[in-house]
Amino acid sequence: MKNLLLKDIEFINDKQVATLRKNNIHTVEDLLLSYPTKYDDYTIVSITEADCNSNVTIAGVVQTKATVRNVKTKLSIMNFYCDVEGRRIRVSIFNRHFLKSKLHYGVYVRITGKFKENMKDFTASEIHFDEFSNSIDPVFNLKGITDKKVLEIKEKVFEEYGHKLVDILPKYIRDKYNLIDYYDAIKYINLPEYQDDILKAIERIKFEELFIYQMKIKYLLYMRKHHPLGVSINYDIEKVREFIDKLPFKLTVDQETTVNEILTDLKANYKMNRLLQGEVGSGKTVVAAISLYAVITAGYQGAIMVPTEVLARQHYSTFKELFRDTNINIEMLSSSINTKDKRNILEGLLSKDIDILVGTHALFQKDVEFEKLGLVITDEEHRFGVKQRVSIVGKGHLIDHLKMSATPIPRTLAISVLGESDISIIKTLPGKKRPPITKYLSYEGRDYVINHIKEEIKKGHQVYVIAPMIEDSDVMDIHNANEIYDYYSKEFQDICRVGLIHGKLKTTEKESIMEDFIDKKIGILVSTTVIEVGVNVVNATTIAIYDADRFGVAQLHQMRGRVRRSDEQAYCFLISKSTVNTAIDRLKLVEANDDGFVLAEEDLIVRGPGDFFGEKQTGNVIFKMADIVADKEIFELANEEADLLISDEKFEDREELKDIIEIVHENYMNKKEMLD
Ligand code: ADP
Ligand code: MG
Repeated sequence: MKNLLLKDIEFINDKQVATLRKNNIHTVEDLLLSYPTKYDDYTIVSITEADCNSNVTIAGVVQTKATVRNVKTKLSIMNFYCDVEGRRIRVSIFNRHFLKSKLHYGVYVRITGKFKENMKDFTASEIHFDEFSNSIDPVFNLKGITDKKVLEIKEKVFEEYGHKLVDILPKYIRDKYNLIDYYDAIKYINLPEYQDDILKAIERIKFEELFIYQMKIKYLLYMRKHHPLGVSINYDIEKVREFIDKLPFKLTVDQETTVNEILTDLKANYKMNRLLQGEVGSGKTVVAAISLYAVITAGYQGAIMVPTEVLARQHYSTFKELFRDTNINIEMLSSSINTKDKRNILEGLLSKDIDILVGTHALFQKDVEFEKLGLVITDEEHRFGVKQRVSIVGKGHLIDHLKMSATPIPRTLAISVLGESDISIIKTLPGKKRPPITKYLSYEGRDYVINHIKEEIKKGHQVYVIAPMIEDSDVMDIHNANEIYDYYSKEFQDICRVGLIHGKLKTTEKESIMEDFIDKKIGILVSTTVIEVGVNVVNATTIAIYDADRFGVAQLHQMRGRVRRSDEQAYCFLISKSTVNTAIDRLKLVEANDDGFVLAEEDLIVRGPGDFFGEKQTGNVIFKMADIVADKEIFELANEEADLLISDEKFEDREELKDIIEIVHENYMNKKEMLD
């Protein structure tokens, strides 16, 4: 079907072929899979079943000549009476004066429209005179060709080639969920007779889309582990344990579990591809350090890549500290580094003088080559652009890869956007940290916030104030941050220094303000969301977020995480002018709920996947029919079935799975080729 070109089909003429081509329809498969965008339902309803609240189609016989009245130059009303099931109905319709000559006594008509409350007057939108073949008209909306013509072509094509459609859903799954077969589904979608059939077809097609999708991901995972291409890293477990024991604290249970999962991955001869999720402050960095230490004991090098300079610097100093008592050599590479230093670093990487390289995406420029790279760690990988992500994968596609994220990503999205990763989650935060006390306040509550902040500053604590700015900010937003900055500067002029940081500042300016905040020279930092997720200022105990309704709940939670660092009681204020109930409810949800995953799911439902990865990067989760949010239930079922199927040791030999395996295998080969 894929190879069957429409131009080779006799009953489709050249002009039609050209028109269809303009609509990106070249093959029989393209044609049958260009689904209608909606359906117009002209199924005739009995007058006893019709009500005045919805559009209906009724059928009757014309009883009077039509009269036409011109209301305005371009507006006419036509009236006539009609016998519908023995009742006399008065029909009105706008701008159809040209049909007048056809409407005379005894003519059969189908009329679509709405009854008035008296059920005697009917306002029609359409009149049809023909005895029809299809009561439900699919609307295809293709350019340059009428729906009627498309339908005609589809009918013929389906009749001729429909039997060639291959059903890739195994029969046991179809039976289990009562799904219709593919032949029927494609028929009902394109050439429907009953509403019910359309629904069944949609359900079946959605299931299939999601199932294929899940199968592709799981098959990649399966192939990675069962046909391994990676290297086994023989770390020295004694030394690793020793390193862990020497840490200034005991690992939490979740950290311990995660470390074990990573060590297993490293030792195995498949390529590790693991996503480590844990909130800011959950202790991911230590886990990263242990993993790097492990590969170094086996004679390998490691790299850790972060989205920004500030974070790179922070990781660099954290690692320096953690590896202080070892002879591990750490260097940092970013775009601001000078040529001479860079040359030294490049040499050090090749001579294996450098064990760990920390950096921004500058780390994956062409000229950066390692002598023996064993592990790549990316922090907040989803914040890198798609291109940069490809280059990460490309650089060391056989090298173990650990992705860390402080953004709780709903599971459905994690697998769909980040692909086939194993997932580890650190849920509990180390130490006896109490959750921040969170309060939603309307603008009237501003004084309360100011007073609270004054108290905190008196105790020697520091404060974040967030004024929202959307990326690629408009002038309004900067104005907003400035205004809040002025307000705080005035309120605190005799108390402490107030700093302002926003996206329009140069990197160096941002950094110097950040440094002053870290050094406690600045007491209150007013900022748009540009302050870094991973930034660690233990002394900051309060965060006040203005216009909080403009953020997603997961984002709010993320920002709240910045004051989760201290053992002191922390506070988070959500300030909003909004009077919209749903907006307020969402702020109250953040107030009452401290689980990032719950909030992330909420955001996914309300704001869609774009919020998590940016619109461009979610392109690959858009299906023709299924919707990752609305069809979550089907998604889960398809996921379950794909899991079950792949966990069967003999699945590759099962005849009924031949077609689906062919598809997922092709996908695997394509991906592999892309990387090789
Ligand atoms: P993340 O990278 O997940 O944001 P970090 O690794 O920076 O978190 O850890 C946050 C803080 O908690 C750091 O100061 C770190 O030293 C400390 N920490 C990490 N693990 C533990 C632990 N098991 N017990 C006590 N403190 C810990
Ligand atoms: Mg971190």
